[in-house]
Amino acid sequence: MKKIAVIGAGTMGNGIAHVFALNGYDTTIIDISEAALDKALQTIDKNLDRQVAKGALSETQKAETLSRLSKNTELKSAAAADLVVEAATENETIKLSLFKQLDGICKPETILSSNTSSISITKIAAATKRADKVIGMHFMNPVPVMKLIEVIRGYATSNEVCNTIMELSKQIGKVPVEVNDYPGFVANRILMPMINEAVYSLYEGVAGVYEIDTVMKLGMAHPMGPLQLADFIGLDVCLAIMRVLHDGFGNPKYAPCPLLVNMVTAGRLGVKSGEGFYKHSKDSKDLVVSERFLK
Ligand code: NAD
Repeated sequence: MKKIAVIGAGTMGNGIAHVFALNGYDTTIIDISEAALDKALQTIDKNLDRQVAKGALSETQKAETLSRLSKNTELKSAAAADLVVEAATENETIKLSLFKQLDGICKPETILSSNTSSISITKIAAATKRADKVIGMHFMNPVPVMKLIEVIRGYATSNEVCNTIMELSKQIGKVPVEVNDYPGFVANRILMPMINEAVYSLYEGVAGVYEIDTVMKLGMAHPMGPLQLADFIGLDVCLAIMRVLHDGFGNPKYAPCPLLVNMVTAGRLGVKSGEGFYKHSKDSKDLVVSERFLK
């Protein structure tokens, strides 16, 4: 495997491209937005500088990494890729359309992977004529820092493809973990109900925002409380994943908390909107509970 195409130049796409290029792969980032591509390359440059400043990388390695990166707004530039990692917007219609097109554009032996957080790999694979070569590569944010890749086997993914991706993940310095394709995979199946339960605890008045997060931080040694984490992930994303679990399993235990639904409806999405369970400002990293939740 030599050439990688990363589809989507957002938060995840730039990190994924960074890691592949750093590890010697010719990497093309593809996005419909020229501005997103430019921003991604700037972010990679800045993050590489950070690695140089820490002594983890030399200036030469940085220059070599940048020389392996290219950008394109045309999906057909994925034609030469040996592996595609799709990290476009989390929207089923977009992903199914991308995979259908990629199936026509890419070589027959190219492996098509998706970084989706919650959409069924089996469903994505069914949009192609190469379901055996479609697999999930669920990287964690921030990609250059986080070691885990959840490698998701779709119903039809072949052993050979799964083994190739497990090996490749190790080569780029990650720790891959193989899981089967069921709603939420493992990471979000466990994380999101925990966040939802934290929101229920707040909704039912069991405790306040600060108290719930402090119990989980100091009591369970979590680096961040579940409500703060929800603000970082985006409450809209948390709600969408709870709906995937609820629809996929048909089990009421996955019903999203009405407070979470209300907050998303009101546009209180967490860090990205400036307020969720906490107030977020660019000027301060202090944790300030939203006035809505103060007694
Ligand atoms: P993002 O919104 O930051 O970036 C998405 C990018 O996709 C945008 O630049 C957009 O222009 C581009 N895009 C949309 N349609 C496209 C198309 N048809 N062709 C090419 N590019 C297109 O999103 P993100 O947070 O980077 O998430 C990307 C994927 O990674 C999603 O599937 C998400 O579920 C998954 N994921 C996100 C996180 C996270 O913490 N953000 C963690 C793990 C997985």
